[in-house]
Amino acid sequence: MSTTHLSCRCGACRFKVEGAPILTVDCQCTSCRRAADRIAALPGGADDRAATGGLPYALFRKDRVTATGEGWAEMRLTAKSPTRRVIATCCNTFMALDFSKGHWLSVPTARWPDGQAPAPELRTMCKDRTDPAPLPDDIPNPGTHTAAFMVRLVAAWAKMGFRSPKILPDLPAVKEPDHV
Ligand SMILES: [Zn+2]
Ligand SMILES: [Zn+2]
Repeated sequence: MSTTHLSCRCGACRFKVEGAPILTVDCQCTSCRRAADRIAALPGGADDRAATGGLPYALFRKDRVTATGEGWAEMRLTAKSPTRRVIATCCNTFMALDFSKGHWLSVPTARWPDGQAPAPELRTMCKDRTDPAPLPDDIPNPGTHTAAFMVRLVAAWAKMGFRSPKILPDLPAVKEPDHV
């Protein structure tokens, strides 16, 4: 199985991922775009959006991801959000989108070295778009998560024996300038 090493922008926090992603998507949902604004507003924060305005991710089985480094924190859009964005606070890099109960971890493809990021297979949640510019039709642009998308996720879960390992549990909230 191939091994990919991904790191924050300063290199102190890293993921080692084994094998190919379950799926690669460019997520156009409102939550991803709102979170991107907040992450970009962190000190030294960057904007990982693609030219389409969406967030491109590669989804990996959690049992194939190992995290190393210190200074991890999380951002939730609201205190009760079941999803969190994992941030490397050494340089405030967005490292992963994590539905904590889920078996997959979504890593922004911006974390790959230049020119090596896996291309998205589809854009998802396009019904949430507010940008009037039309999307390119190079890949499918479904309005919501498709059945095929769900089938791929569940098939990966079956191969994991329906286990959902935790990655970096119990992180502190990231310090945000506007959300103190
Ligand atoms: Zn860093
Ligand atoms: Zn999203």
